Amino acid sequence: MEDPRLALGEALAAAADTLRHHRDLGLTEIACQMTSSRDPGAELAAQERALQGCPRCKLSKSRSTVVFGSGNPRARFVVIGEGPGEEEDKQGKPFVGRAGQLLTKMLASVKFDRERDCYICNVVKCRPERNRNPEPDEVAACNPFLLAQLDTIQPAVILAMGNFAAQTMLGTKDGITKLRGRAYPYRDSVLVPTFHPAFLLRNPGDQYKRMAWDDLKLARREWERLTSG
Ligand code: URA
Repeated sequence: MEDPRLALGEALAAAADTLRHHRDLGLTEIACQMTSSRDPGAELAAQERALQGCPRCKLSKSRSTVVFGSGNPRARFVVIGEGPGEEEDKQGKPFVGRAGQLLTKMLASVKFDRERDCYICNVVKCRPERNRNPEPDEVAACNPFLLAQLDTIQPAVILAMGNFAAQTMLGTKDGITKLRGRAYPYRDSVLVPTFHPAFLLRNPGDQYKRMAWDDLKLARREWERLTSG
């Protein structure tokens, strides 16, 4: 077999010859296309198609729609909730009920437009009946699809909303009050836990609102740091 170092040397020598030839012809610039051929939108669409009619856990028995996710597939900011509620189950989109309306405002308060700057999804893609917490076998069944989504989107920052999302993503039983207020390394991203908007609606005092605002500002700063955004 050919020595790879020799092969590399020959390839570089050939490239140098070509560049010298171009220089001798008077060329001073070379056009270079640096765009990636990845198409996260198409990848997500394929993942979503593959999940239609998913029978992998018992949530499939009662759901109307698989709520895969929505937003910008090239966003470097991903928001993760617990699971679809009643309205999301009807419309097939995450965070479109009352909590979703508050989420839209929370994101806007740190200058993120939810459709343009974010991708939003849930730990489980199907509604747990009566909005109970998803069970461990349901989370385990859905987890590969969440990880595939994250692999495709490659977010810089993940905002994990509420006890359930934060505990699931970080693999801990600590509560959100203890977890929030800092950024955690998570795979190739950082994860910022904060209160779920449904919790903020149930607890309308300034105390939680202020903490959520601090978390959102932290998430925004991390996003700016990691994307020079
Ligand atoms: N709550 C969630 O956690 N996710 C939704 O999509 C809606 C409400």
